[in-house]
Amino acid sequence: MARSVRIFDTTLRDGEQSPGCSMNLKEKIKMAKQLERMRVDIIEAGFAISSQGDFISVKTIAETLKECTVASLARADENDIDRAWEAVKGAVDPRIHLFIATSSLHMEHKLRMKPDDVYERAVAMTAKAVKYCANVEFSAEDSTRSDMPFLARVLEGVIAAGATTINLPDTVGYTTPDEHYEFFMKIRELAPSLEKVTLSSHCHNDLGLAVANSLAAVRAGAGQVECTVNGIGERAGNAAMEEIVMALHTRKPFYGAETRIAANEIVRSSGLLTRITGVKVQPNKAIVGENAFAHEAGIHQHGVMQDRRTYEIMTPESIGLSKNNLVLGKHSGKHAFRDRVKTLGYELNDAEIEIAFGKFKALADKKKTVYDRDIEAIVAKEAVQVPRTYKLESFVINSGNTITSTAVIRMTRDGKTFEKVSRGEGPVDAAFKAIEKIVGRELALEDYRIESVTEGEDALGDARVRIKTAEGSEFSGRGLSTDVIEAGIHAYVNAVNKMLYAEREGLDSKKISATL
Ligand code: MN
Repeated sequence: MARSVRIFDTTLRDGEQSPGCSMNLKEKIKMAKQLERMRVDIIEAGFAISSQGDFISVKTIAETLKECTVASLARADENDIDRAWEAVKGAVDPRIHLFIATSSLHMEHKLRMKPDDVYERAVAMTAKAVKYCANVEFSAEDSTRSDMPFLARVLEGVIAAGATTINLPDTVGYTTPDEHYEFFMKIRELAPSLEKVTLSSHCHNDLGLAVANSLAAVRAGAGQVECTVNGIGERAGNAAMEEIVMALHTRKPFYGAETRIAANEIVRSSGLLTRITGVKVQPNKAIVGENAFAHEAGIHQHGVMQDRRTYEIMTPESIGLSKNNLVLGKHSGKHAFRDRVKTLGYELNDAEIEIAFGKFKALADKKKTVYDRDIEAIVAKEAVQVPRTYKLESFVINSGNTITSTAVIRMTRDGKTFEKVSRGEGPVDAAFKAIEKIVGRELALEDYRIESVTEGEDALGDARVRIKTAEGSEFSGRGLSTDVIEAGIHAYVNAVNKMLYAEREGLDSKKISATL
């Protein structure tokens, strides 16, 4: 019988702290719910002490989820542990995840502590966490570059103090698969108490080996793998969850291990994260890249048509990839729309359905055929919508290659109407400047891109913008329209509304980021 490997998702902690991937509270909750739907075992929802925003999101996720274990990261420090417990205690199964570095490089230059003091601190803080919570994970930061006898001593100490999961992070993405396998085998020998707890792997992708290293750890006895959706994370990222899950699934006889992940939720999770962050995966990315299941070579296509197994090791259906089928038209009613949304896997409340349905109707009027992907684009945006402080009323653009572009934008806020005119380098720039004038803030445009959701001349344009405030906070926005200029304007207004939402909720100040 295959043994089970737990999937520990850190998309909302390690992933979220990477550039361009920050999420607001509403986005984190949607993502957490999707992770639970995918049957992730443990969700690391954040680093509670790092900011008020992180604290609130860990707490809200802990109180919202019904099945998953919810963890908060904490340094081996009294205040961190208090804060972590305060945040996770409302969960069905709360976990405190504490860490301290064990490599001489980190102990000497970062912690400025002697090994004996690190040992004492690790044991004492584990004991403190265990008083709050029976489910305690201990991570030895930079474990792969640590002195093994010392590491073993620390692990024996924290296990005796009550830690139930021991994680050995390759914090800097330095190790290789053969070495990682040996490392896990060796540490099990040096610290025999590891047999009583769950051993965990946490790999970074600096050498492109995060997934391979994680699988080597599984072979060497790891019962938990830490990873992120789409492999997002610090620098080159974390191990990609979808790759680990599908490798264990596809090669189950070889690994003799399985996860409880609902693999057919992979595409939806990947897509939701992309839509929230605006960070796309590369087309040739394993499992979730656009080309991952596209057979271009004629000989392959012929083979796949005869018998799919000739060139296909996994089916697109197994990860939840559906064909681009025509589903609804302009005469479809709200009931049919709601059913379709449900089948696609989105849970919207009545107010959200109302708005999404309005957008669907407007789209169906402009576009001949409405595909699943169009509906997903509308719905996924609605699902993470923040309060619309500013609403776009109308816009007029005057543009051409012999004149300077001008834009007139009219928006409402709290029932009041605002209108501004601006010139710019092209229609989009002019429109963005006019919005900036209405908002009355200095906003730098960091990124602007547009792509089509489906093929065809009347395809829906999906625009993303990223703006930066004078204080340095970044916000991304998304807009959909069959008119590309309008899509851009909606995206910009969306980013502004997200900025105002974050500022109002006080969720904006991130102070400490963990290196684990
Ligand atoms: Mn990490």
